[in-house]
Amino acid sequence: MTDAPTPVDLLIRNAWIVTMDGERRIFRDGAIALVGDRIHAVGPSAEITAAVQAKETIDGSRFVVTPGFVNGHIHTTGEPLTRSLVPDDTDWRTNVFDWLIPIDMAQEPRHERLSAQFAALEMLRTGTTCFVEAGTIMALDEVVSGLAETGIRARVGQWAQDRAFAADDDQVALTDRALKVLESELDRYPTAGDPLIAAWPALVGHNTATDTLWIEATRLAKEKGAGVTAHMSPDPIDPDYYLATTGRRAITHLGHLGVLGSHLSLTHAIHLDDEEVRLLADSGTNVTHCPMTAMKGAYGATAAGKFPEMAALGVNIQLGTDGNNNGNVADMMRAMFVMAGIFKDSRRDPTLFSAYRVLEAGTLNGARGAQLSHLIGSLEPGKKADFVLHDRDRPEWVPLFNVVNQLVYAADGRGVHSVWVDGQRVVENYRSTLIDEEKMFADVQQAGGEVIARAGLPVPCEWPVL
Ligand SMILES: [Zn+2]
Repeated sequence: MTDAPTPVDLLIRNAWIVTMDGERRIFRDGAIALVGDRIHAVGPSAEITAAVQAKETIDGSRFVVTPGFVNGHIHTTGEPLTRSLVPDDTDWRTNVFDWLIPIDMAQEPRHERLSAQFAALEMLRTGTTCFVEAGTIMALDEVVSGLAETGIRARVGQWAQDRAFAADDDQVALTDRALKVLESELDRYPTAGDPLIAAWPALVGHNTATDTLWIEATRLAKEKGAGVTAHMSPDPIDPDYYLATTGRRAITHLGHLGVLGSHLSLTHAIHLDDEEVRLLADSGTNVTHCPMTAMKGAYGATAAGKFPEMAALGVNIQLGTDGNNNGNVADMMRAMFVMAGIFKDSRRDPTLFSAYRVLEAGTLNGARGAQLSHLIGSLEPGKKADFVLHDRDRPEWVPLFNVVNQLVYAADGRGVHSVWVDGQRVVENYRSTLIDEEKMFADVQQAGGEVIARAGLPVPCEWPVL
């Protein structure tokens, strides 16, 4: 006697499915069934098809299904409106202080709202279903309401720093104000109940946070079930600062404060010594690798970075695309390709960061860093229905033999056909189902021009633009 078929909302069958489950099973003729916002079943097409009664069935023979990618670090405001404006011959300090901060400061709340929506659109269209914001949002309420219209999953936070840099700055008042920002955002957008969008303490990091802010941000995050994210050590400026002011390098100082741990994601983490690498591993601190930024910004990820050593010690390395003037695109598949290649070449070691490890970085490791492993990162019954259909009906997907190599080395986000987040189909046949893309592209061009003009920045080009 066989059981009656289970009613499900959607069945996609006859697809390649890369599950990223505990055994890393890949089904060549697989099916995935959804009920509401959750995955009900994943497995061989014949087995799943016989076990369910679907309201809607999609023939997946044209598709490869993967979990949605998790972008561990992206600046969703400012830079999406000014993509690729900043010259590629600027050093880190010039880049940040002469270009990126003036861009950030020139925005109005309406610019930030549009920018975040546009960043979300680009991520969804290239297969990213969840992101952690980098910590440079000023108008948080406008950004959250804008993001909610796109269907994406996110952990965001308002710009938080408190270091008194100017002689007449009031250190106590600066810290007090930053703490109030953190407390208020965590109250307004709590992680409890696992909503699509929630707030974290998103510290800018580097040398911008006092010890008090680090300690209090960590306490609040742990109390509220959130994570903490911060930039650290893309350049020797950070370890030099901490050495000069505390006698310890940056990560060693954070360890001394007791703020390292699995709740924390540190972005860049390039200029580290062996003790800092060991501290990251021992504490379970996540590292967010932004390889495209490192390449354009000449950070030295391959020359000085210890990513292979971190991986060998078990550090959870996730991937980010950073700002659209550094990474320039929000396509995690391009970031995966770069991650897979740069250390093989620089160390002359083809065993470093295989396609398998890199696909883990873009899915499971990102979910872990985002404190969402229980919900996303793999396609398994009970997890949220966040997944991507990659279109095999394209040259880069033909022929198809090793699907993992193909995902990392051959394909990119432009082959993403459809995307589901939380059981909702947010991209269908290469278009957002929720956003008027044509209008948004026109709005972004207009808003970008406004921000550049308000910042008083040029639009440099070495060649005559006539
Ligand atoms: Zn960043």
